[in-house]
Amino acid sequence: NAIHAYPSCSKLLVLCTISSGGLVAYSESQAEPGSGIPSEKKKKVLVLGTGWAGTSFLKDIDISHYDVQVISPRNYFAFTPLLPSVTCGTVEARSIVEPVRKIIKKRDGEVQFCEAECVKIDAAGKRVYCQSNIDNNLVGNKEFSLEYDYLVIAVGAQVNTFNTPGVQENCHFLKEIEDAQKIRRTVIDCFEKAVLPGLSEEERKTNLHFVIVGGGPTGVEFAAELHDYIQEDLVKLYPMAKDLVKITMIQSGDHILNMFDERISSFAENKFQRDGIEVLTGRRVVNVSEKEVAMKIKSTGESCSIPHGIVLWSTGVGTRPVIKDFMEQIGQKNRRVLATDEWLKVKGCDNVYALGDCASIDQRKIMEDIAIIFKAADKDNSGNLNVKEFEDILDDIIIRYPQVELYLKSMHMSDVTDLFKDPRGTDATEVDIEGFKSALSHVDSQMKSLPATAQVAAQQGAYLSRCFNRMEQCEQNPEGPQRFRGSGRHQFRPFSYKHFGQFAPLGGEQTAAELPGDWVSMGHSTQWLWYSVYASKQVSWRTRVLVVSDWLRRSVFGRDSSRI
Ligand code: FAD
Repeated sequence: NAIHAYPSCSKLLVLCTISSGGLVAYSESQAEPGSGIPSEKKKKVLVLGTGWAGTSFLKDIDISHYDVQVISPRNYFAFTPLLPSVTCGTVEARSIVEPVRKIIKKRDGEVQFCEAECVKIDAAGKRVYCQSNIDNNLVGNKEFSLEYDYLVIAVGAQVNTFNTPGVQENCHFLKEIEDAQKIRRTVIDCFEKAVLPGLSEEERKTNLHFVIVGGGPTGVEFAAELHDYIQEDLVKLYPMAKDLVKITMIQSGDHILNMFDERISSFAENKFQRDGIEVLTGRRVVNVSEKEVAMKIKSTGESCSIPHGIVLWSTGVGTRPVIKDFMEQIGQKNRRVLATDEWLKVKGCDNVYALGDCASIDQRKIMEDIAIIFKAADKDNSGNLNVKEFEDILDDIIIRYPQVELYLKSMHMSDVTDLFKDPRGTDATEVDIEGFKSALSHVDSQMKSLPATAQVAAQQGAYLSRCFNRMEQCEQNPEGPQRFRGSGRHQFRPFSYKHFGQFAPLGGEQTAAELPGDWVSMGHSTQWLWYSVYASKQVSWRTRVLVVSDWLRRSVFGRDSSRI
């Protein structure tokens, strides 16, 4: 028999567990099982979103200390990196989703979930307003509001059409499971339409022209999947279509995959050329109609257009309306994402945190911060530091602002000191701080915020839950690490991102990967690495088994081309 006493509660609670299986509880105040804190005394944490950031936060938050409530219009978590595989039936939609209720059930206590969309955040009143998105004969009120002590905003981003006319009406997007399922059906429709009797060859070709706008990782992966699907499965079933089908990718920059190492972009471009995927670079799409994509050639200003059977629009991410409205309220108008500090707290708001694709750590203060550090280090005000001191400071800057290092890598500089003529490896013993600052301010103006990836979102969720779990302990013992900005200390170390590399599947069982330490790997062996990493990263054993069996099914029986 177990007896748990909770001296921290004003009213003593004793639970006696009886070996026969019964449970007798004597209590004047209600407490959560396994917790020392009565439920009415727990702080309310409201989490918006069940994507990478929200789910990662939920997996680790200590629910014996918080009353956690989750709001999301989707009652599942989706493994987005496999969405392009769903568009062609390589992997089934249900294999890459996990019900949120299953994820939260694994926790010892209770986490409340509501399938609804947050439509307004009232930070001053500490309340959010929500609307259920269940349409089918919902009895009762669709709208409700919830109070919070802490708000965790992890609502991700939506597609960005850049207000290009016709995009919303005539393009497909690839952001959600429903998008992937819709694309899968439309691809089959295009083939079925193309083989109807009575069509001219031009009409058949138009139906079988697949256009992808955007040469980033999602567009490239979709093009590769589609090419494999067509060559391995569809042309066998629609032999008439074999010589008529075409895939075209339109990219506004000079290269596709331009956020990757240049060896990867050129490998991808060469592979696409061999596969017959046409890549049109340096063009900006200006209009998409039901039948045509109109574009401008950036270098000459000339206009041209191409007919299409289906267009996938995949050109970056935009802001959700609820975030736009919230940014206006808190004086962050005209930004794309919410600005947070390095502890992921939304600037200008108490107890509100934002993470994942809807947020970004405010970069504008980097130069101010760096100036403060140098001022503190330059004790004799000489304007110079010796190389050793300088290197230590630099390490500190890179730890706090990994973007500095990422940027330098993208400029193919092995080290920030490459910005100077001679500080390291020469006789130089001192570094001119002003010279460094002006070099870095040039870097700063071009420095990008952290990439909008699942990796960043998941690490932020895990970081924030660790901070929450230590909050009480830190309040009792506030001596935390040295504060970077200004004087004093902060309870927690700032968020620091660890980059584990990224993949770009290119079809034909070939993948390119950029791995930590500037490693680049491409080809068939990297495809096996991709399979193992993606299988291991699944959220549950159920989805892992389903995904692996889908891959096996595809290699034995091919992809299913039924339009259901
Ligand atoms: P999301 O995962 O988008 O989750 C947002 C959540 O908020 C969802 O549950 C949504 O339903 C919910 N929500 C939306 N609006 C509201 C509202 N008003 N109220 C409440 N809840 C709301 N990243 C990688 O690192 N590697 C990859 O290989 C990769 N491949 C990708 C492939 C595709 C096709 C796509 C679309 C993305 C890919 N990404 C990849 C990027 C990655 O998916 C995102 O960066 C990641 O999903 C961001 O996580 P998040 O939690 O911020 O947002």
